[in-house]
Amino acid sequence: MRQQYADIIVDITQEKLDRTFQYKIPENLKGKLTEGMPVEVPFGRGSRMVKGYVIGFSEKPEIDADKIKEIHAVLEKELGAETGRMMLAAWMRQQYGGTMIQAVKTVIPVKQKQRPKEKKTVRLLISKQEAGEKLQIFKKKHQSARVRVMEALVEEEQIPYELVTGKLNVTSSVIRSLEEQGILKCEAVTVYRNPVHAEGKIAHPVLLNEEQERIVKDIIAHWYEESCRVSLIHGITGSGKTEIYMELIAHAAELGGQAIVLIPEIALTYQTVMRFYRRFGERISIIHSRLSPGERYDQFERAKRGEIDVMIGPRSALFTPFPNLKIIIIDEEHEDAYQSETVPRYHAREVAIQRAKMENAKVILGSATPSLESYYRAKNGIYRLYTLKKRAKESRLPSVQIVDLRTELRSGNRSVLSVALREKIEERLEKKQQIMLFLNRRGYAGFLSCRSCGEVIKCPHCDVSLSLHNNGKLICHYCGYEQENPKKCPQCGSSFLSSFRVGTQQIEEVVRREFPNANVLRMDLDTTREKEGHTKILSAFADHHADILIGTQMIVKGHDFPNVTLVGVIAADLSLHSGTYRSSEKTFQLLTQAAGRAGRGEMPGEVVIQTYNPEHYSIVNAARQDYESFYEEEILYRMLGGYPPVSHLMAVHGSSSDLEHLDAGMSYLKKYVEQIVPKKARVSVVGPADEQIAKINDTYRKILYIKYKEQEMLLKIKERMEQYIKANEGYQTISIQFDMN
Ligand code: ADP
Ligand code: ZN
Ligand code: ZN
Repeated sequence: MRQQYADIIVDITQEKLDRTFQYKIPENLKGKLTEGMPVEVPFGRGSRMVKGYVIGFSEKPEIDADKIKEIHAVLEKELGAETGRMMLAAWMRQQYGGTMIQAVKTVIPVKQKQRPKEKKTVRLLISKQEAGEKLQIFKKKHQSARVRVMEALVEEEQIPYELVTGKLNVTSSVIRSLEEQGILKCEAVTVYRNPVHAEGKIAHPVLLNEEQERIVKDIIAHWYEESCRVSLIHGITGSGKTEIYMELIAHAAELGGQAIVLIPEIALTYQTVMRFYRRFGERISIIHSRLSPGERYDQFERAKRGEIDVMIGPRSALFTPFPNLKIIIIDEEHEDAYQSETVPRYHAREVAIQRAKMENAKVILGSATPSLESYYRAKNGIYRLYTLKKRAKESRLPSVQIVDLRTELRSGNRSVLSVALREKIEERLEKKQQIMLFLNRRGYAGFLSCRSCGEVIKCPHCDVSLSLHNNGKLICHYCGYEQENPKKCPQCGSSFLSSFRVGTQQIEEVVRREFPNANVLRMDLDTTREKEGHTKILSAFADHHADILIGTQMIVKGHDFPNVTLVGVIAADLSLHSGTYRSSEKTFQLLTQAAGRAGRGEMPGEVVIQTYNPEHYSIVNAARQDYESFYEEEILYRMLGGYPPVSHLMAVHGSSSDLEHLDAGMSYLKKYVEQIVPKKARVSVVGPADEQIAKINDTYRKILYIKYKEQEMLLKIKERMEQYIKANEGYQTISIQFDMN
């Protein structure tokens, strides 16, 4: 498209973002403007020059062309925090689709409606030495009110006005007189709310062990090298990663810079915040979903004003407007929570790396079970890889036992609890130790499996399990392949095929029946719906008000229960057959994490994993805590299937209330892509298929996948698709979004 007009926003506050103004692009700037660029434009009746940002282009004037003003200039030297965020938004829009306004809204927080609170203070205007001299003079003259104020101000240069008139009992006329003499000044300062309510002393950092020391030294030695921008620290839980993060943050602070620490919300516990507080004191702040929009906004303001150096929080903390960002740390980098579910569907890891490039900062990724993407890149030299092999404090890893549910069935046990697990529970109850029973339902889609041999019905084209639908058919969520439910197992001929339906509530009933004297708590979406429900259950369990905690993945993240010595995984298969190419990876991560919950205190821990697939590599290697072997097998599967990270995968999500339009629109889109890609390039287009949830709120949802080994090509295809969608009226009733990998 030729650049004729540019859409400009002149006021970067959330509520005004939707208001854009069209400007003419002068000849000398044609073809040179990009989204996110800061420009100077004449504005309003007086045409005074104001700063604006380009957020889009158009060919036709929206009003009488003569009335449209012209862009004055590009603000080339402008490099403030705001411009940085606009450029980041532009990158996100280009990468993930959607509109520029949606991208800008993601990086800029909602401005608070109520005005920030102001507090009146008294500030010393002269030096402390001069103040000391004045103090002596007032003492000689026995002007005791003045003495009280000066003593306080010598101690601290700025004190609350209320303190002076209240506790110090000094009248306003005395204050006024001191103000007239130029000794002090009354001012109003804006007070931003601080969500960190912590007390306690700053503690000395621990002495790093040899492994930690080596990593910290190496990262610092290569601090400014482009090829070392991103580092991955692979270390089991408790191996001392957090201590490394804090040492690196301290280094960033020495360089005069700031740090962002991303932690999945669910792991952002009071203990975690306190650890950072004890090291960095009031210079830290946090963001989490329970803060009001005003409180969140305040934290960004405090960061802008240089009141804090470290921001801790989930995904959105990534956009903290620090003036001199030096390091971004992403803990538990494999977590799904880093993937945004709303437009733009960005991944925090990718955006962090982009922001770090733009602002010359470092990125540190840490995990006990790195995502395949990150480990693959680290192995290929794109990230720097560090490994921590031991736990920092001497504590044994739990012993893990895998129980084959097929043999349980053969010996006549149809309960959700195997004989082994039941015996171990009993044993712990007698010893007054605690037990966690874990149901990994993440992404559970309903699959059909053989209870005799463990076989799961898979898609013949995609090597992922087929999902069971309400209409009684089995469906592939990648290619749309459909088949009737088979009557017999294709592997062993058994007719004992069934869908695996088990919920936390059912398990609770069984456990209560079998152990009537045990106190049981259940944690899932139902029991945590009320405010703080989540925290209540966890602290009740921590205080040993219950012997057994039953729950979904919520229970396995970031909590230390020293009295838990047994963790039971009810059916590892639930996440193993979730119908996506990531299901083995997710299973390995969940099982490793769950196993890490047992034996965190003095007593040794034990883990029982129940499954119909006891030989599966994700289960075997999780039991051995062997990431490396798991990775080798999994990457082979990704290579053969053409799945990320070996290949790139772009998902095209379509949604509409009109199913027919949606069907047609997605099919045409597929044809269009097949037409435009060069024949030689081996781009594969898979689908369209129903999304895992095929209909939400009467809106139908379909998905199309485009696979190719290089991402560049996919981005180009995406741009062409966007143009095609814009140019065809048929797409007006369909919303299309893109998602990389
Ligand atoms: P991770 O972040 O990898 O889970 P942490 O940094 O939380 O590991 O360390 C686990 C525990 O070991 C924490 O209690 C931490 O204070 C302690 N720890 C870590 N490094 C050291 C060290 N060098 N000396 C003593 N204790 C350490
Ligand atoms: Zn079978
Ligand atoms: Zn398929």
